[in-house]
Amino acid sequence: MSLPRCPSYYNATIKHETHYPQLEGELEVDVVIIGGGFTGVATALELSEQGISVAIVEANKIAWGATGRNGGQVTGSLSGDKAMVKQLQNSIGIEAEQFVWDLRWRGHEIIKQRVAKYGIDCDLKYGHLHTAYKPAHMAEMLATFDEGARRGMADELILVSKAGISDYLDTPLYHGGLLNKRNMHLHSVNLCIGEARAAEANGAKIFEYSQVIDIQDGEQVVVKTPKGQITAKTAVLAGNAYHKLARNKLSGLLFPASLGNCATVRLDPALAKQLNPHDLAVYDSRFVLDYYRMTADHRLMFGGGTNYSGRDSKHVADELRPALERTFPKLKGIEIEFEWTGMAGIVVNRIPQLGKISPNLFYCQGYSGHGVATSHIMGEIMAQAVRGQLEEFDLFANMKQIRLPVGEWLGKQGMALGMLYYRMMEHFR
Ligand SMILES: Cc1cc2nc3c(=O)[nH]c(=O)nc-3n(C[C@H](O)[C@H](O)[C@H](O)COP(=O)(O)OP(=O)(O)OC[C@H]3O[C@@H](n4cnc5c(N)ncnc54)[C@H](O)[C@@H]3O)c2cc1C
Repeated sequence: MSLPRCPSYYNATIKHETHYPQLEGELEVDVVIIGGGFTGVATALELSEQGISVAIVEANKIAWGATGRNGGQVTGSLSGDKAMVKQLQNSIGIEAEQFVWDLRWRGHEIIKQRVAKYGIDCDLKYGHLHTAYKPAHMAEMLATFDEGARRGMADELILVSKAGISDYLDTPLYHGGLLNKRNMHLHSVNLCIGEARAAEANGAKIFEYSQVIDIQDGEQVVVKTPKGQITAKTAVLAGNAYHKLARNKLSGLLFPASLGNCATVRLDPALAKQLNPHDLAVYDSRFVLDYYRMTADHRLMFGGGTNYSGRDSKHVADELRPALERTFPKLKGIEIEFEWTGMAGIVVNRIPQLGKISPNLFYCQGYSGHGVATSHIMGEIMAQAVRGQLEEFDLFANMKQIRLPVGEWLGKQGMALGMLYYRMMEHFR
């Protein structure tokens, strides 16, 4: 069953709504991509730029999934970074740390370059504040600052003291923070649609309301939808937390977690400036964190308080309101105009999962809530892989992935318990 866009702020402010056709009949391309979120679209754009014939088959609309529901924060905080370094030390030795450090900024470069090259209007802005929720959390900020300074980023980082927070946010919370000028924030749906339009202009074929219901993989891959099919040399499965394909190979690897997000009515621009004078994206230092920023039209977009049972919350705004008002007491009682949820793909060791289901069927998923930049990095790596350049793909594909030998339902209960554990551990941090 195909679904319309969710009632989010992003979808109410789309610059160029998409009207791609449903797949009907038969088509042949070099590469077919299943899923039209950041992962699928970024991979398709990369391939189309290299003159490769590519098609995207999307069950709903371009950017319908997590890509159209997220906080729009482009962070260098790569999920699973420490686990990645540990595993990569076995394959590339002392290069591992530098590789992962460079990786964390690669998505930023791809996004910046695409926005400039294709003139994508997606409200791209710079600056993040990672805030210390407790005094002890400043140790992590300090360590990140030191590492950044050591690796040549000193000009882009500012350690903010408890007293200094009021220069950046009108909030009684926080014991300091780390300002990162390289990180960015943006309108996710307009970015993804802009990239899809660029891929289409390069020759990519895009189909919406075309749910893939079967994949036959042999010498070629045949991807079937209710009304059509595409034959390709290679297929990339990019459905992340929203697809149920290839269960025999993928079950137990990734667990969908429902995250909530909301946006207030437009604030008086002067009030918006008072609350967040440098227009920064903010996320706090807890395991289960709050994240927020101002939109281009001066709304506060506020997310957090995750529901790891994998079920969508019914009253997202009511759930988020107490944290929003605690953060900005001046917004007590503010009307919340948009509320929505989305499924993030959570991985136990947090390392993005890239691999092959069969020689011609690749998959790429699982950014554990950090996918805006990471999906672009992985799109580049997947595009290299389907063209036969497998070095970086193999680094990821060879990393140990933790598979929980349980069904999705039990996995979600396990995750809910895990989050409860993390919330409890928060008291001791
Ligand atoms: C509420 C929320 C807030 C977040 N905030 C941030 C943030 O601020 N910063 C950040 O970096 N990350 C954030 N994330 C994570 C980020 O949004 C995701 O990691 C990223 O968008 C994943 O992109 P994707 O293309 O892999 O998956 P998705 O965007 O989920 O796309 C998958 C697509 O596949 C399609 N699909 C599924 N099954 C089929 C099928 N059978 N046939 C065809 N198509 C199919 C779906 O319709 C969907 O469009 C957040 C996530 C959520 C949910």
